[in-house]
Amino acid sequence: RAYNFNAGPGPIPEQVLQQAQKEMFNFQHAGAAVMELSHRSSLYESIHFAALKQIREILSVPDSFDILFLQGGATLQFSMTAKNFLPEGKKAGFVLSGSWSEKAMKEASFFGEVTEIASTKSNEYRSIPEVNLREQDTDCAYIHLTSNNTIYGTQWKTLPEKGTKPVIIDMSSDILSRPVNWEHIDLAYAGAQKNAGMAGVTIVIARRSFLESAEGNVPPSLSYKQHADKDSLYHTPPTGAVYITKLVTDWIQDLGGIKAVEERAEKKASMLYETIDQSEGYYTGHAEKSARSLMNVTFRLPSEELEEKFLQEAKEAGFMGLNGHRSVGGCRASIYNAVPVEHVEALCRFMKQFQHTN
Ligand code: PLP
Repeated sequence: RAYNFNAGPGPIPEQVLQQAQKEMFNFQHAGAAVMELSHRSSLYESIHFAALKQIREILSVPDSFDILFLQGGATLQFSMTAKNFLPEGKKAGFVLSGSWSEKAMKEASFFGEVTEIASTKSNEYRSIPEVNLREQDTDCAYIHLTSNNTIYGTQWKTLPEKGTKPVIIDMSSDILSRPVNWEHIDLAYAGAQKNAGMAGVTIVIARRSFLESAEGNVPPSLSYKQHADKDSLYHTPPTGAVYITKLVTDWIQDLGGIKAVEERAEKKASMLYETIDQSEGYYTGHAEKSARSLMNVTFRLPSEELEEKFLQEAKEAGFMGLNGHRSVGGCRASIYNAVPVEHVEALCRFMKQFQHTN
């Protein structure tokens, strides 16, 4: 298998793929694969509810929150949050820390007024905006932020304390990588394809009282409350993707839970950042040190020619997905949960060797 540093979809733990392969043809003697089962069958339901329960356990989600499995990716959440929670005459407030926050704001603008609360665009999103949510504009219906900026490689070290306004967080690229303080969050969402399994299922974790405060004119298919009331079985869920998420949560539990995952993430990130910092300026990180992401490590080489050569040789050496996002260029190593420590070690060795010979 390749050294997979893709930004998403990213790698899935080998143990999970092997288990899925073993069970693919005949899941627990059912005579069918999971994705061939009725979503109303008790066998599928046992997977569905176990996945929900294990996410709750891993992230210590309080009972006052619902966990949902939806479809449409994180991108549909940009619209769905606005459709549910942005009433006429109010604004949705956005903290802009990268392209995904910009996209979230743009989508929300189709449903009502939006406003920028803070932004680090002027420094090419190298840092996280400084913002005090306790002092935010009173006509905001909610405040939206992105916890990890996949493209620029920055991350909130700790999420800001909430003021009086509900807080919605796009956790697409760092969910299940560190503990979460739910006190300061009303709704979090993430596509599964980076840290939680495969594309197709979107995880939403939301305070029930917030879901109940939604606007009245929301069609059932877009209503969080509807999905919550039906345990995410209002319509056919992405059963195969939920199954993979269930196996990923088993894997996280086997690793030792969220603390163990966080320590592993810190270890992998520090290996790469040390390689960058010890290169005497050959590799330069895009993110300011204080904002460095534990999930996406973005860096440049001395010239675009060298970057091209680096990416080509890395590819030949079995590395996948090291190119930076097309909007920013350079290089990016995404080191989601499923990336083994040994793959990061191999990348650090490759980087040092490349510097030495070039
Ligand atoms: N938000 C963030 C932070 C992302 O990294 C991505 C995808 O990479 C998205 C949203 C969009 O997610 P999706 O493709 O699941 O709609």
